[in-house]
Amino acid sequence: MQSHTVLVKDGGNPTNLNSLKTFDSAGRGFWSHISETDWSDWRWQLKNRIVSLEQLQRLMPTLTPEEQAGTMLANSKLAMAITPYFFNLIDAADENCPIRWQVIPRLEETHTALWVMSDPCGEDSHSPVPGLVHRYPDRVLFLVTDRCAAYCRYCTRSRLVSNATGYDFHPEFDRQIEYIQQHQEIRDVLLSGGDPLLLSDDKLETLLQRLRAIPHVEFLRIGTRIPIFLPQRITPAVCAVLKKYHPLFISIHSNHPRELTTEVREALGRLADAGIPLGNQSVLLRHVNDEVTVMQAHLQKLLMCRVKPYYLYQCDLISGSAHLRASVRQGLKIMNSLRGHTTGYAVPQYVIDAPGGGGKVPINPEYVLSNNQDRVVIRNFEGKVFEYPESADAGLPVNPPGH
Ligand code: SF4
Repeated sequence: MQSHTVLVKDGGNPTNLNSLKTFDSAGRGFWSHISETDWSDWRWQLKNRIVSLEQLQRLMPTLTPEEQAGTMLANSKLAMAITPYFFNLIDAADENCPIRWQVIPRLEETHTALWVMSDPCGEDSHSPVPGLVHRYPDRVLFLVTDRCAAYCRYCTRSRLVSNATGYDFHPEFDRQIEYIQQHQEIRDVLLSGGDPLLLSDDKLETLLQRLRAIPHVEFLRIGTRIPIFLPQRITPAVCAVLKKYHPLFISIHSNHPRELTTEVREALGRLADAGIPLGNQSVLLRHVNDEVTVMQAHLQKLLMCRVKPYYLYQCDLISGSAHLRASVRQGLKIMNSLRGHTTGYAVPQYVIDAPGGGGKVPINPEYVLSNNQDRVVIRNFEGKVFEYPESADAGLPVNPPGH
């Protein structure tokens, strides 16, 4: 018997929903003098990232004291880097800009709390060779680099990415591949990091080729935030490389509808045209996407970009991220506002990665109100209650349907 959790019903605000769903270009902002060739060149974007307090202050005089202090300390915790393209999505006049909270360091990152950890998913303890995590029986996480196009302030792998804490990550592709070759139970390899799409086309192709040559590897996946931070990287050339190694899926990482610009929609279209199934992983974040209307707009916009919302993660207990963590209660409220209220394809699975390495645990609003050998009592998205028989002689419903 389960208890019936009463959750607040909130269908979102239709006016805000529509305005959040418009597709805009990130524009050129401070970089209007740069040639189109340079601006569209992903290597130019990487070379010209904002990485210091001086650069940030020059471009954004509205920096708050918390942001200034956070940026000064970032290089000893998780480096700051923001591509010019992504910087243009920040609203410098709005202290609560959801893009700003994701990439500009804050003083709160130095706060500690009882529950926090440096490796909340227990990856290091499931790592048979450097850069390979083998936690589930039939699949592995293959870390290819510690670099990203920009750094998310809540990153689960902040112990490792950007090397600000001196983790000194050196993937050894030969050893990682050898381990996969020797373990026939591994049928699924997820490339992640850091961001695998930061590798050159040649390096990426060599890696995919070597993995595809292993007979028991059925399925390849890439986890990447590049289409969001650096859509210029999704060139026809890299799409041509990727499409040779099907079945290959890509999970992107986007959190807010404003991240889905016209540039991103085009980049995702190129990947989809290369036959790559696209999913999205979001992290539930305070100040960013912990409102029903924002989440609905984001999920619906992802479908318009040919991306299926896959997971919504409760933010891991990574040290220095408490200011960005929304409550599980709020996550459940949002999930309750989705099922039945919008297209089923738009509804991600909400999960908590069990602290310490327990793996993903699905978290759902309660739709089963009670069950016994005779019948199951369920509620629908409108809160109406129904009964379903468990056996042929269960007898008629105790209550009329839909009361
Ligand atoms: S892109 Fe991914 S790996 Fe890189 S900082 Fe963001 S969450 Fe971490």
